[in-house]
Amino acid sequence: MSALPACPQCQSEYTYEDGGMYICPECAHEWSANDTAAPAADEARVYRDSAGNVLADGDTITVIKDLKLKGSGGVVKMGTKVKGIRLVDSDHDIDCKIDGFGQMSLKSEFVKKV
Ligand SMILES: [Zn+2]
Repeated sequence: MSALPACPQCQSEYTYEDGGMYICPECAHEWSANDTAAPAADEARVYRDSAGNVLADGDTITVIKDLKLKGSGGVVKMGTKVKGIRLVDSDHDIDCKIDGFGQMSLKSEFVKKV
């Protein structure tokens, strides 16, 4: 009657579809309607510097432009080297510690991997 595939696990024909998933009521196996494709990788965020290099935790970067600090009035000078960055999932996506400034958050678009 329908084109539903048999369960790949127990060969049951009583499978049904639910929201893009096929479900087998006999063995409770669930699989995607387009399961033949490779499973989508977890959408891990990729962090890239101003030049498009992929950044990773612990990388050393340099600041590519003078960055004014809110409040304190200080400026992180272009070319400042920052070791041991940590990537975070936010607007300012790099957590780091800069000598003379302490803990900072930077944007990856304003840095370059060393
Ligand atoms: Zn089954």
